[in-house]
Amino acid sequence: MSSDMVIVYHRQPYEEVEENGQIVLRENKSPNGIVPTLKSFFGEVDHGAWIAWKLAEDPANPEFEQRIEIDDAYGKYAVSRLALSEEQVREFYHVTSKEAFWPILHGFKERYNYDPVDWANFQDVNRRFAEAAAEEAAEGALVWVHDYNLWLVPGYLRTMRPDVRIAFFHHTPFPSADIFNMLPWRKEIVSSLLACDDIGFHIPRYASNFVSVARSLFDVDVTERTQVPDKWIFEGTALAERAWASRLNYDGHDVAVSVTPVGVDIGYIDEIAHTPETATQTAEIKEEIGDEKLILSVGRTDYTKGGIEQLASFERMLEFNPDLRGKIRLMHVSVAANRSMSAYEEIQSEIEQIAGRINGRFGTLEWQPVTLISRAVPFTKLISYYQAADVAWITPLADGMNLVAKEFIASRVDDDGVLVLSEFAGAAVELADAVITNPFSNRAMDLTIISALQMPEPERRSRMQNLRAAVRKTDVRKWTPGTLKLRPKHAIVTAA
Ligand code: UDP
Repeated sequence: MSSDMVIVYHRQPYEEVEENGQIVLRENKSPNGIVPTLKSFFGEVDHGAWIAWKLAEDPANPEFEQRIEIDDAYGKYAVSRLALSEEQVREFYHVTSKEAFWPILHGFKERYNYDPVDWANFQDVNRRFAEAAAEEAAEGALVWVHDYNLWLVPGYLRTMRPDVRIAFFHHTPFPSADIFNMLPWRKEIVSSLLACDDIGFHIPRYASNFVSVARSLFDVDVTERTQVPDKWIFEGTALAERAWASRLNYDGHDVAVSVTPVGVDIGYIDEIAHTPETATQTAEIKEEIGDEKLILSVGRTDYTKGGIEQLASFERMLEFNPDLRGKIRLMHVSVAANRSMSAYEEIQSEIEQIAGRINGRFGTLEWQPVTLISRAVPFTKLISYYQAADVAWITPLADGMNLVAKEFIASRVDDDGVLVLSEFAGAAVELADAVITNPFSNRAMDLTIISALQMPEPERRSRMQNLRAAVRKTDVRKWTPGTLKLRPKHAIVTAA
């Protein structure tokens, strides 16, 4: 009961590695940077806490310390680790979260698999997260819960600790009621979320979908509403003031539904972008590419990322534009995430097959049209690829935000390069100067990539300058737990 801020995020805030027979903690190199961002909030309080799970052979008798104290560059904080068995992790994470929730959140009804869900296990894991948070939180503390695999935490926690302030952030899209309500546990999930003080989303559309879902299930009053246009381009930097979309009242409890898009760490990317090592690496990649144009695509292997549709468009481009053969190259980074899950394994093999077919059909001894990379590229190397690319081709079918798009822009300190971006990436709301495309339309996909390759330099530069200004507005350092503000030394106030 001593932490003013408790982060509830299912992964631990560092990596545990074995060195000379001993387990040591190492800075989490999690590529998307969310872990360091969350830890940085500990700098604003006397003491923080982080709740995560850790694999234990025997949860009843874990060999590791359940709770450890850390004092590092970010601040002082405890890490409370829930011991989960392999089976519990499989049920909670791989089955319930990835096979039932993930497809629904991204609007893939046909991939939704309800049968194998062990709901009692999901409830149990969430209850344990809530208990651990309740144990760590000081009177009136801010507890910030992250993502759909912890949907039930706010409800349990509110009963255990009515005094704490609870914020919840969705890192994914949030679908409309006719898709979300396919989940048989919809009422339990939404009533848990309504126990929060703030429910956060990346973009206004997801926030308004949530409001309509809540109203379809419960007698919820919308007490206040901002005029958030469908296409909302952020202006100014006072995000917290502009963050909320609606206020709801349910059963006498007020909750803000807020919009706080996650951004990238511009300072950090800028630093890497300017190092001599990056300059050398970028020059080497450009030399290797020579006079050809480089199209870069980066993402995890997931049906939501649209890799197959994109490769199909590339194949059509080479088929119908023979003059482009030998003149363009696609570097398709599709990081194989979880080989243990059949849905992802199938996508991975399909991607490998199409890439192989394109190279077989059009490649020559001197020229290979597709370079497929399935391993994660280290972040510093990725910055060089971003810098060397003529076009970043980011065309997910559904994506909460898509940080790759923002990282590409932040890396382009030369003000050049074209971003082709799917309108179904959350980032498209902010990045109006990208070439916006619809990955469900072959025609749109084929025309936009060609127009990106042909875009004249003055237009490229002017668009990139605008994109860079847009990305600066949501620098991750300005991110907040929705409308809830954490002021140094215990004072937690509500903005607006
Ligand atoms: N990433 C990386 N190496 C790779 C591919 C991706 O470091 O080979 C990072 C990328 O820089 C980005 C993150 O993985 O920060 C992916 O985040 P995004 O929001 O684009 O997608 P998500 O995987 O979270 O759906």
